[in-house]
Amino acid sequence: MTTAVTTPQHGGTGGRTGSAARARQLVKTYGEGETRVAALDHVDVDIASGKFTAIMGPSGSGKSTLMHCLAGLDTVTSGQIFLDETEITGLKDKKLTKLRRDRIGFIFQAYNLLPTLNALENITLPMDIAGRKIDQDWLDQVVSTVGLAERLKHRPAQLSGGQQQRVAVARALAARPEIIFGDEPTGNLDSRAGAEVLGFLRTSVTELGQTIVMVTHDPVAAGYADRVIFLADGRIVDDMADPTADRVLDRMRNFDARGRTS
Ligand code: ADP
Repeated sequence: MTTAVTTPQHGGTGGRTGSAARARQLVKTYGEGETRVAALDHVDVDIASGKFTAIMGPSGSGKSTLMHCLAGLDTVTSGQIFLDETEITGLKDKKLTKLRRDRIGFIFQAYNLLPTLNALENITLPMDIAGRKIDQDWLDQVVSTVGLAERLKHRPAQLSGGQQQRVAVARALAARPEIIFGDEPTGNLDSRAGAEVLGFLRTSVTELGQTIVMVTHDPVAAGYADRVIFLADGRIVDDMADPTADRVLDRMRNFDARGRTS
């Protein structure tokens, strides 16, 4: 007997292809004259839609700056940033705020949950504030993907760190943003809880078609991504497809060794 093989439906992609975000000749400098620092030095990057991209590099290499610029949280000195086809560089504050609210999701190291609201209320809060209608089917899918169905009535204080971060992930996913940015999203978690959250991020990309960009210093976390971009001194110095924790670690050791001998 043969069984029909069906192609899984990826709800979140909406037929999007190509780049979810891109930067062209992106420069960000801080300070003036002698104290001038080029945090980003003519960076060109394309963030693939429906993929999980990690940004790595030593402390001070420009990871956070790149993420903040791509997410429209920081202004650029020169160059261009596009979210899909929209150029965000040069957008006025009001439009940028609206774009961030409507099209971008964030997961920070601190979960930023409201203590007086339960998990479900925290997840739907941004949409409630924006006056957006909640797509119940999608919400159910997100909640079951992140494994929170049994915890929806719990307040943050009644949840473990890993569960709280899963609520933060669900909150970001629920609004169906085009792209989610994570800044060390597992930085505050022990390795088991971190693995759980990274597993959910991975699943949301594979099964829900979400696009995720994550800054991390952790090779294990980077191993969950489809691609790792390595920064040094504000430039992209390497790009790895289908990373594993071991390969990322090797690459980092190479950088260190080169740094010491040069
Ligand atoms: P990373 O995230 O890789 O640690 P950052 O993007 O935070 O690196 O910083 C890149 C460079 O820009 C560093 O040299 C840092 O000192 C500098 N920098 C970042 N933010 C500021 C700021 N607000 N004012 C001055 N310098 C900054």
